[in-house]
Amino acid sequence: MIGLFGGTFDPVHLGHLRMALEVREALGLREVRFIPCYSPPHRDPADATPEDRLAMLKAAVADESGFVVDTREYDRDGPSYTVDTLSSLRQELPGESLCLMMGMDAFVSLPGWSRWDRILDFAHIVVFHRNGIALPELGPLVGFFAEHHVTDPAALKARPAGHIWVQDVTPLNISATAIRADLSQGGSVRYLVPDNVLAYIQSNGLYGASMRQAASLTKKV
Ligand code: ATP
Repeated sequence: MIGLFGGTFDPVHLGHLRMALEVREALGLREVRFIPCYSPPHRDPADATPEDRLAMLKAAVADESGFVVDTREYDRDGPSYTVDTLSSLRQELPGESLCLMMGMDAFVSLPGWSRWDRILDFAHIVVFHRNGIALPELGPLVGFFAEHHVTDPAALKARPAGHIWVQDVTPLNISATAIRADLSQGGSVRYLVPDNVLAYIQSNGLYGASMRQAASLTKKV
């Protein structure tokens, strides 16, 4: 059983990494694949280039075995639709349980995603609480959730796709939007992103980070 974690990762931060680790341990996933979105269809374009976002993500997962980066959305033209990504993964991994991981913020936006009702044909959805966002009480997600929600995680191993599982994780109120805002105002984002990601941001001047901050990161001995 493997986990799939898509996002813009603009930039990747400790909220993403900690959540992936907790879900991997809780469900016994053999691998978590981080799948950076090349061209986000449901939101404004990313601030950093796809190449910079990928470089930061690769640096962030480099020392965690079982965390891998999957660049298939970089190899396709047009918007990066999740359902197309899942369909291609399913062809490569027939019979494997695939768990698409997402925060409740992403889950509540699902009805706006292209062919969203086909996602469970290819994968399970593992959703975790984020920022106090609750499941909607009205609209298409109500029936979708009720029909597919399982209360025993063993169900995820028993078939390759089709269920929704809600996973408890430690809430870490970190967001890429807030990180970008801090950097653009000259603030420090240390302890919100891995040190090697911070070094990359500083040395490439991403998000308005200044070289002055980069210099202050260098430890004096
Ligand atoms: P932004 O703040 O710009 O919306 P983001 O931090 O939400 O960015 P994304 O790359 O858009 O990051 O999110 C990808 C996935 O990561 C989503 O499923 C989202 O719910 C999840 N996620 C983001 N931040 C956290 C966090 N602090 N803890 C757990 N999951 C998170």
